[in-house]
Amino acid sequence: MSKPITNFDVNSLDALQALIWQYEMGADEAIADEPLDRFRASESLSRQGTMPQTAPGGRGIYGMKGANAARAAGGASGAAGMGAGAAGAMPPAAIGGFVLSDAPQEARVSAQKAASDAATLDELRAAVLAFEGCALKKSASNTVFGSGNPAAEILLVGEAPDADEDRKGVPFAGAAGKLLDAMLRSIGQSRETVYLTNILPWRPPGNRQPTADELMVCEPFVRRLIELVGPRIVVCLGGSAAKILMEQDKGITRLRGTWHEMSFSDSLQSDVTAMFHPSYLLKTPEQKKIAWQDLRSIIKKMRG
Ligand code: URA
Repeated sequence: MSKPITNFDVNSLDALQALIWQYEMGADEAIADEPLDRFRASESLSRQGTMPQTAPGGRGIYGMKGANAARAAGGASGAAGMGAGAAGAMPPAAIGGFVLSDAPQEARVSAQKAASDAATLDELRAAVLAFEGCALKKSASNTVFGSGNPAAEILLVGEAPDADEDRKGVPFAGAAGKLLDAMLRSIGQSRETVYLTNILPWRPPGNRQPTADELMVCEPFVRRLIELVGPRIVVCLGGSAAKILMEQDKGITRLRGTWHEMSFSDSLQSDVTAMFHPSYLLKTPEQKKIAWQDLRSIIKKMRG
């Protein structure tokens, strides 16, 4: 058994190793001046009986359910079903296999309210900036809302900002963005003609995979953004955006290249497709030929 580390036996090598380990685990930002012992805080909360309890059947991050079950639980308008469960318990909202656990249901409801109250893109940007329901905001340097033509015919949705976007506050500002620029050029478009956004407006620390809760809490903002821009075509970049916007519990390999007519409001029906994320294409250039097929399919849809 390894002996516990005390103040006396931590040498600088141990400290460096611990720091590297934390960095690799995604703790790459200092978010407070003083360290906070959350184990102690949660012990004291549970002694006071104020710890949130996980309801039976509650799901953790990336809890997967079938698409039918997702629809039964409320589908894209999961909140509509919220509060309608037995004995007043809120059923979990689920979209495309992402299941919201019990803890952040209120956050999603408040995101839905803030999003639907926003009548313009500027109001929606202000609502996202003011939103406190997603902890990612605390560790992010900037809120990355979106950029491009506010009346674009084509809207592209990625997953979440990386380090470059977090620093600059602009979506697709790094290497993946350069590839995306080339992809847009190949279909006669540019950052000025399309609109770019992400499901999450804040960077997950260390670029870790977003959790289902984070995606589900922030999703009402992106849906409202789509409604306000009113694009004819929505292109999901990568699996997270595809699953959540197409409401399909399938991976990107099965969703890419397919088209789904989706209703974003009473008056907005858009054609939604998915393709591999440019970050994935940078790592797997042999998939670029498939991405090219998907771009051609987008050109065809634009002309059709
Ligand atoms: N990856 C994304 O999904 N979005 C960005 O804005 C940048 C990288």
